[in-house]
Amino acid sequence: MSIDIDVKQATKTIVLNAADLAFKHVSLKGVAKAPVVIFDTQQETATLTFASPVSAGKHVLSIDYTGKINQHAAGLFALDYDTAAGSKRALFTQFENSDARRFVPSWDQPDPKATFSLTATVPADLMPLSNMPIAKTVKLSKGMQRVSFAETPKMSSYLLFFGLGDFERITNEVNGVEVGVVVKRGDTDKAKYALDAASHILPFYEDYFGVKYPLPKLDLIAGPGQSQFFGAMENWGAIFYFERDLLIDPRISTQDDQRQVYEVIAHEMAHQWFGDLVTMDWWDGIWLNEGFASWMEVKATDHFHPEWKVWLEALNSKEAAMRVDARAGTHPIITPIRDVLQADQAFDTITYEKGESVIRMLEVYVGADAFRDGVRTYIKAHTYGNTVTDDLWRELDKTAPMPVTQVAHEFTLQAGIPLIRVGATATGIHLTQDRFAVDDSAKAGGTWHVPVTVSSVGGTVLWQGLVSADKPADVAVSAGTVAVINAGQAGYFRTLYDAASLAKVAGNFQVLQPADQIGILNDSRALGYAGYEPLSDFLALTKRVTPDMPPHVIEDVTGRLDQLNFLYEGLPGQAAFQAYARSVLDPVLAKLGWEAVPGEDQNSAVLRTTVILVLGNLNDPAVIAEARKRFATYVKDPTSLTPDLRRDVLRIVAEYADAATWDQIHTLAKDAKSNLEKRELYVLLGTTLDKDLAAKALDLSLTDEMPVTSRPGMPSAVSAHHTDMAVDFVAAHADFFDSLLEPDNRAGYLPRIASQSRDLGTLQKIDDYAAKRIPEDARGVVVRAESTIRENAGVRSARLPDVDAWLAAQPH
Ligand SMILES: [Zn+2]
Repeated sequence: MSIDIDVKQATKTIVLNAADLAFKHVSLKGVAKAPVVIFDTQQETATLTFASPVSAGKHVLSIDYTGKINQHAAGLFALDYDTAAGSKRALFTQFENSDARRFVPSWDQPDPKATFSLTATVPADLMPLSNMPIAKTVKLSKGMQRVSFAETPKMSSYLLFFGLGDFERITNEVNGVEVGVVVKRGDTDKAKYALDAASHILPFYEDYFGVKYPLPKLDLIAGPGQSQFFGAMENWGAIFYFERDLLIDPRISTQDDQRQVYEVIAHEMAHQWFGDLVTMDWWDGIWLNEGFASWMEVKATDHFHPEWKVWLEALNSKEAAMRVDARAGTHPIITPIRDVLQADQAFDTITYEKGESVIRMLEVYVGADAFRDGVRTYIKAHTYGNTVTDDLWRELDKTAPMPVTQVAHEFTLQAGIPLIRVGATATGIHLTQDRFAVDDSAKAGGTWHVPVTVSSVGGTVLWQGLVSADKPADVAVSAGTVAVINAGQAGYFRTLYDAASLAKVAGNFQVLQPADQIGILNDSRALGYAGYEPLSDFLALTKRVTPDMPPHVIEDVTGRLDQLNFLYEGLPGQAAFQAYARSVLDPVLAKLGWEAVPGEDQNSAVLRTTVILVLGNLNDPAVIAEARKRFATYVKDPTSLTPDLRRDVLRIVAEYADAATWDQIHTLAKDAKSNLEKRELYVLLGTTLDKDLAAKALDLSLTDEMPVTSRPGMPSAVSAHHTDMAVDFVAAHADFFDSLLEPDNRAGYLPRIASQSRDLGTLQKIDDYAAKRIPEDARGVVVRAESTIRENAGVRSARLPDVDAWLAAQPH
């Protein structure tokens, strides 16, 4: 490789990034003597020291080097897969955040942008891919060819891509751009859904961002494998996806899979502008990339599929963010990042889901048109450049009808969740601001200017404004009107009603807007876990749920009941809880039925799969028996189940499997032809309630029988019911699992598995492991896992007794 460099000031040393590379020859054009090269494996740098100073001005630095092909998705890596003609290998690259240095010596950080010209010598019968189209091909002897890709636009090193394999590609011409989906040979029928989605989304983004997609082609590339860490990567013009996130297999993909795939496509394509064309200066700005793309994926999906009501689904993302943000170990959205290890940790729930939620809140606060106009001027002003977050706020301040920066700073530069307390007054309600947390992190306090919307139950806006600790608000509410706080639920905060106000809202639960029904359920659940109000208040709300409520609301309740069941596992009160939860969900299943009803909306279809699965978790005898019956038929005739039911039936049967059934699923996994299916079936083996079978499943992950990239998924699957067993297993085979994981993912792997625990005894195991194997700079993940376990254990000991008492008091 050679790099055009511009030396600003005469120097004897040049330092660049390189990791796992061996340099054979280094030269600077016009300098006779080769420099001395010293590698720093910690810093992942190579220092070139020249005998005499290199003069200021333009130079060409050339390095002849070799590198490695990894088995995990970092740098250049291989994915092996089975075909009728035997095992095949495909190559891909994965560089974000800092692994381009494993492929090419470079200044491997976001801000020094460069153009890249890639040439590869490859077997002529394979398809090479990069960010740009092939500009030139030269036939060589022995079935080889040399391909040169067109020069890329100016971009960051982490966006460079190379892929090679026995691929097929289907394409569409969209606004002068060739949109392609690339799959391994034989899979083009699974690619059509993605090609269609991408072809719609491209012009939508060109309009929203106000800038044409700048490359001549855009490929969406499917890799046969998986990572514990990511599903897709937005390489400019050559987006990489693991198959599960791109392909729709009509035999096994569910209707929910279609939505997930649509959203991931929309997410990565949003990055083509937000991230690729305009890039953060440094990794502390990664939230702007990820929060923005996560928000935009919902916006684009909602545009093309309004019937899915994905904004209601997005309330789940906010809930996920708030769970992390309410505990020790949370951090501000924008947090200082010293080095690569810390950057690895920044790809978390706060960055993605809180980022998404805060952007949603700001969009609603300033208005969708003003927000879009600000984004357009921001993109135009920084095309091919690097930015800091304040560059966006500055543009929004110009286009929005009110100042944005202060509110934006308070939600991005400080951690935590505002709590809006609602008190009844003689003339209406009084709103004050506090901080919500499940532990001592609440004591840190915090002031936010919180955008609050108050509506009537019918949806009429009564008041909008900012509420802060130093500026509470009084809202006039006429007698007979019930005030709903955070109406529409775009606000990133929790609402704590006083008992009288809550009773009024709960009394009108059935007639609230669906978003507010979900919001009140979620707040009530969270306030109950944290002890702000009795957890039984949440249970009382679930009693008001009826089968004819909107599917997303029932979906939300179903998820929360499932979560409580998880916390109840092994406690004496679990059976009574399960009986109650079944009494809420059985009528829903009775209404939906097991079979799809012709013409039903897709939300009901997705809800059916959730309700059946959760009833399975709740030990519903009828559901388990039905699943077993259908499984027996399925084994003889795989076409007997729709993909939606197939997924549920397999999961329920696997969870309650005896040894013979487990062996049956094992055989299905061994015989599975498609990589997607194989991966799914193996992981199911780990979800069993049976301890001995779970141990057998763990042992499988050490064998060559499982696809390499699926093996780390097994302890994760086992951890749901046997957390300590999974933790002990990973600790005992730590070197083995590390060898399968991307370096970025090693520190977080065991803590994430351990965070399923509901037992304080697991804390010591994490500490022991961390002391031996997790570098100091990467221990944020340990703090977060431990605060999750403390919350789980705390709810079990301090809150569930209140639920037990409430259940006992219910009429039978
Ligand atoms: Zn992303």
